[in-house]
Amino acid sequence: MFRLMCVTAHPDDEAASFGGSLAIYHDRGVETCVVCLTPGQAARNRGSATTDEELSSIRRKEFASACEILKVTRPVILNYPDGKLYRQDLYKVVCDLTLEIRRFRPQVMLTFGPEGGLTAHDDHAMASVFAMLAFQWSGRNNRYPDQLKEGIGSHRAQKLYYATANFTLEGRPPVALAPITTVIDIGDHLETKISAFRAHVTQAPLWSLFESHVRPRGKQEMFHLAASTKPCAIEHETDLFAGIEETD
Ligand SMILES: [Zn+2]
Repeated sequence: MFRLMCVTAHPDDEAASFGGSLAIYHDRGVETCVVCLTPGQAARNRGSATTDEELSSIRRKEFASACEILKVTRPVILNYPDGKLYRQDLYKVVCDLTLEIRRFRPQVMLTFGPEGGLTAHDDHAMASVFAMLAFQWSGRNNRYPDQLKEGIGSHRAQKLYYATANFTLEGRPPVALAPITTVIDIGDHLETKISAFRAHVTQAPLWSLFESHVRPRGKQEMFHLAASTKPCAIEHETDLFAGIEETD
């Protein structure tokens, strides 16, 4: 069985940045997992919520609905504070992600680039840093050895990708994007991705802006191969699982 894990920062990232790939790899029989680090409680668009707790609980449900549309096998939201990932204890966040990797045992992982994606969001940047360390450390027995019991063993995912793009957004802080190594044709799952984004009802003020960016750019998601267990020169890829070996 092939397994794909995606590490994000906010509910709606899974749809906006990875939705087409999550849906298309589900169609190909791959089990998928999204680990979202925050419940999005600091969002500017808050629907009917009057407190952070209320917004968290609404956004957890919206995330569940979006993941249902994307047919995510294992949706997980952790409880870190939205907007403050750079203030968290790195060793603790990486510990939580390492445990998720050791449980789900993905061969391939996706996350943002350390620039923070097209929006340059600090939380996206930190999700990238945490995910990269967890990717490296989950395979080492001397990292979080207390996790290695009751059927949980160390696990090496084989490839890690950053989401990237062939454009930047105006009016956002400058970003230096990772070069494109991998282009996934998401076909009609462009529509699935847009519906999954629309499952985030509190974020309705962003729907039309999102569509105006993704529709004209077509049916592709772009990634950068950031790490691989097989030392290699960069080749242009059209499949995240190219060269991947099936593992338990
Ligand atoms: Zn986000």
